[in-house]
Amino acid sequence: MQFGDLARVLQQEIGAWDAKPVSETTGYVGQVGDSVAMVTGLRNTVYGELIDFASGAKGIALNLEEDSVGCVLMSGETLVHDGEEARGTGRVVSVPVGKGLLGRVMNPLGEPIDGKSAIEAEEFYPIESPAPPVIERSPVDTPLQTGILSVDAMVPIGRGQRELIIGDRQTGKTAIAIDAIINQKGKDVYCIYCAIGQKASSVAAIMHNLEKYGALPYTFTVLASASDSAALQYLAPYSAVAMAEYFMRQGKDVLVVYDDLSKHAVAYRTISLLLRRPPGREAFPGDVFYLHSRLLERSAKLSEGLGSGSITALPIVETQAGDISSYIPTNVISITDGQIFLDSELFNSGVRPAIDVGLSVSRVGGTAQKKAIRKVSGRLRLDLAQYREMAAFAQFGSDLDKSTQDKLAQGARLIEALKQPQFSPYSMEEEAALLFAAVRGYLSKAKVEEIGSFARGFLDYLKMNHNGILASIAETGEIPLEMEQDLELSAGKFAEQWAKKAA
Ligand code: ATP
Ligand code: MG
Repeated sequence: MQFGDLARVLQQEIGAWDAKPVSETTGYVGQVGDSVAMVTGLRNTVYGELIDFASGAKGIALNLEEDSVGCVLMSGETLVHDGEEARGTGRVVSVPVGKGLLGRVMNPLGEPIDGKSAIEAEEFYPIESPAPPVIERSPVDTPLQTGILSVDAMVPIGRGQRELIIGDRQTGKTAIAIDAIINQKGKDVYCIYCAIGQKASSVAAIMHNLEKYGALPYTFTVLASASDSAALQYLAPYSAVAMAEYFMRQGKDVLVVYDDLSKHAVAYRTISLLLRRPPGREAFPGDVFYLHSRLLERSAKLSEGLGSGSITALPIVETQAGDISSYIPTNVISITDGQIFLDSELFNSGVRPAIDVGLSVSRVGGTAQKKAIRKVSGRLRLDLAQYREMAAFAQFGSDLDKSTQDKLAQGARLIEALKQPQFSPYSMEEEAALLFAAVRGYLSKAKVEEIGSFARGFLDYLKMNHNGILASIAETGEIPLEMEQDLELSAGKFAEQWAKKAA
């Protein structure tokens, strides 16, 4: 390059350099303790603004008072000292978004914590943003198959819905959410697992399973473990949903699991008490409802004009001794579109997934089911409800008439058929065929304790001999009348063979 050219390029570059003055406010730490710093002298600070401290610590502004700003520290709590300089960055916390996140583990600030390379961001999204307004939404009508027979049949989940998973500790809450993620393989749904306040070892085990079952190419994790600061735990679900919003705006479907919101509420309570906000019921601050409502309202199914993307949320809440009427559970139940209630007695008696059919509902209901499943699920609920009622009476041991005996036998078999081990999701057509055979009474040919192998045997039999039926259900999502006959015939034949083998 000639000297003249070089000079011209330089001149151009300098001419194009547009150094706008940036206003920056600095203040000083007045008081610090318990991961809260009171900073004086900051002006024009906004709620949720990121504050940088001279020592390298980071905090967010949560209390905006007249003469000081209350910052909760996210990292470097031990470094900050009185009189230190603090700088308002002028921006609220933002996280990287895009396909570069898939397969990764990040903290709530979007920094990688899996020891791999830096994250390639397509854009940055602020973690707090308003929920889509009514006119941008469309009704929830597309099923999100979880592959769990009892969920898909009785508490169906639609894309864009919020379904709470609630139950005592160790009742299989996480297991349902992880199975739902694993079942999205090949279904063009991105999944986010947001772990809040859990042991790092449990999250490692979950990551291992996600990898083992091939879920990592479409899944990523946002983690604030029990050892992270309360501020990071508080931010985690908002940053997860911000990452989800990017995909939703691209017209994609996203599934977000918040595991769990009880610990999230506790982290927020810690922050609020440290900031000296007045405690209310169960020592939670007054705005704890808004904490979760503004998060869950961001799940939506967007209208066609906006690309029909969706965010489906599966928040998890832990109860104490099955009490769903305490503060956080009632709040979250009222915000979501239904709940899957897991019962520890059922779990311990071997009914897994331990779904309490009476207390579990989905307010979206049948519109989020394929016709083939809707056709049989009404009957299933009815049979189970009758069984529960009669089982209570039958305990008294008086002699029972034939029809009561039949109903009891059918109910016991249905409960067996709904048992399902972890990591073995059913496809939609398998669910439909199995439920069809079950509600039409074909299970009665097998003993109660054989039902598990009978069900698996029946599906294998269909695949080997009548794969056309399954293929057709998969394609149309329906069981038309003519096919009902075929299904009845093959179920009858299989049940006969089964009975003969047993004899
Ligand atoms: P925590 O309260 O500790 O978060 P949790 O309610 O999330 O517990 P999980 O960790 O999902 O419960 O499950 C508890 C145990 O039950 C695990 O060991 C899991 O493997 C087992 N489990 C869960 N679901 C099933 C199932 N369908 N079949 C067999 N075992 C299961
Ligand atoms: Mg769990």
